[in-house]
Amino acid sequence: MTARKKIIAANWKMNHTHREAKSYADLLWTEVGVVNEIEVVLIPPFTAIPALAEAVEKKPVARLGAQNMHWEKSGAFTGEISATMLRALDVNCVVLGHSERRRLFGETDEIVNRKITAALSAGLRPIVCVGETLAERDDKRVEEILKRQIHEGLKGVNSKQFHDLVIAYEPLWAIGTGRTAAPEQAEQAHAFIRSVIASVSDDPTAAQIRIQYGGSVKPENAEELLRQQDIDGALVGGASLDARNFARIIRSAVAVLA
Ligand code: PEP
Repeated sequence: MTARKKIIAANWKMNHTHREAKSYADLLWTEVGVVNEIEVVLIPPFTAIPALAEAVEKKPVARLGAQNMHWEKSGAFTGEISATMLRALDVNCVVLGHSERRRLFGETDEIVNRKITAALSAGLRPIVCVGETLAERDDKRVEEILKRQIHEGLKGVNSKQFHDLVIAYEPLWAIGTGRTAAPEQAEQAHAFIRSVIASVSDDPTAAQIRIQYGGSVKPENAEELLRQQDIDGALVGGASLDARNFARIIRSAVAVLA
């Protein structure tokens, strides 16, 4: 089987100033110690990106991420940020299609698709979020929803570009609720997502694409989730706000490899 490097990401959402970001990074690396085998992505608000750039540069396992971007390169789009601007700050990844963007800011699959296309053209790695609501799960529509989000969101992505993508399975009922998907439940969704990727690309691509789990991941449940065959990492919201907690999650990913 293709070895997939675990990718552990901290999505701070609208939290932490640029000053707090600097002390967070210092504490995080002290707590984590030496790690080589995984990838760590710090995804602060835009304003804290420059403050974290140096902290990330010093650590070969670390990458900088952004929480959103516009699909146009530049222009009259007040309040927006382009992929070019993010690349200029050495940002490596961008979260796209997060459920909060879809639900609170009206982002459709079509908008997500435009953003993914623009990110890939600019050399940014999209972390594409997909996931169902509780009502959709209760109605047994999980597979239909995931399939639609992947088909529509990744429309036009070519086979080479698939290698630059990360998918994050984030069931909405588990985000910020403290309620985590059971490891087997998450594994089932991840295996399904991989099969959909195989159908829109090919088996080798599906075997190498990384699929993170997101939804109330914390130090207490990270290791069990990360031990599942098709779970290649975690996208962590609330528990990543505290550097010590996030360091424990990183260490869980390392423990899984031992
Ligand atoms: C998220 O918003 O991507 C997320 C997974 O949040 P939390 O870990 O707080 O559920």
